[in-house]
Amino acid sequence: MTLKLENHPCFNDSARHTFGRIHLPIAPKCNIQCNYCNRKFDCMNENRPGVTSKILSPLQAMHYLEQAIALTPSIAVVGIAGPGDPFANPDETMETLRLVRAKYPEMLLCVATNGLDVLPYINELAELKVSHVTITINAIDPEIGSEIYAWVRYNKKMYRDVEAAELLINKQLEALKKLKEAGVTAKVNSIIIPGINDTHVIEVARKVAGLGADILNCMPYYSTTETVFENIDEPSPEVVSEIQNATAEFLPQMKHCARCRADAVGIIGEINSDEMIQKLAEAAS
Ligand code: SF4
Ligand code: SF4
Repeated sequence: MTLKLENHPCFNDSARHTFGRIHLPIAPKCNIQCNYCNRKFDCMNENRPGVTSKILSPLQAMHYLEQAIALTPSIAVVGIAGPGDPFANPDETMETLRLVRAKYPEMLLCVATNGLDVLPYINELAELKVSHVTITINAIDPEIGSEIYAWVRYNKKMYRDVEAAELLINKQLEALKKLKEAGVTAKVNSIIIPGINDTHVIEVARKVAGLGADILNCMPYYSTTETVFENIDEPSPEVVSEIQNATAEFLPQMKHCARCRADAVGIIGEINSDEMIQKLAEAAS
């Protein structure tokens, strides 16, 4: 099986006009609450809020994938990016990855997670040759994290405030380290939230670089209604660019992220075709 790692359009700028990706929306639940997230929309890990995704079962997702590949031959990557967190739905996530790997041995597989519950699955992810994992790490200081996360649910227990942020951050950093030991390419997303973590992202970059992260994606926070942060303005392109330049001291930067929906398909930046929207609706019914 030859996986062409360089064909991932998110990790390789020069591949993004040639190769596409598909997100399979099979993971509805989340195990944390970010103060910028409105669950009526998709996950800020990997999305553009505004339209709620259909949710598919693993078998429905396979049916949908077959049709998507027939209609969109550019697809080189199958990813799972929500609309909740893949590992808050581990059975569905792992089953889908197994099914895709069995049917498409040369497909790149990719997962985007908040990192809380990925740890127990890293060995199997590596066995399945899931080559790319993204963890969204917005803070490494629990005090700052406590302003970003309303709660964290871990092993059926609810955590809040600094305790919640500390737990999440420790799990994220542990997962990043283990992913690198397992040979997985690791991207870190950091959402820039003005007045909350904008001056802290550089510390995130320094820390995750030390743990072996391969690339950093400094994403501007996307203002959504009905959230704790709804009155915070989005960072200007100048601020985002300054942070990218500063963090570039530690890590290569992804600058072409399009904040895709959890059911995005095709070339990055292109909107889903009407035909694919119809296929998704059919697959979910
Ligand atoms: Fe929302 Fe994603 Fe945060 Fe979960 S991890 S609360 S789905 S932004
Ligand atoms: Fe790639 Fe960004 Fe889209 Fe994720 S959200 S698929 S990293 S372009």
